Amino acid sequence: MNLLIEIMKKCKKCNIEGNFVWDKDYHENSGKWRLLDLDIERPHQCQVKELEPEKMTVCPYCNPQTRKKISVKKLQEHIKKHHLGFY
Ligand SMILES: [Zn+2]
Ligand SMILES: [Zn+2]
Repeated sequence: MNLLIEIMKKCKKCNIEGNFVWDKDYHENSGKWRLLDLDIERPHQCQVKELEPEKMTVCPYCNPQTRKKISVKKLQEHIKKHHLGFY
């Protein structure tokens, strides 16, 4: 039977254009889907956008003399860990 191979012109994940097909062999072995890039005959690797630099702040509860900058994401965790009881 003929396999109908569908060529995709774009990777939906990273929006890069090219000629991609789903890698069926890989799926049979691993249960996961990945794209093959026909142009380079290799599995496609998504072009991950560079992350923005983390926003930095200072903890309002720490000693202003000694406190260090901390990323905004980690501040909540830091407060819970080091300033419990400070409601
Ligand atoms: Zn991709
Ligand atoms: Zn603190």
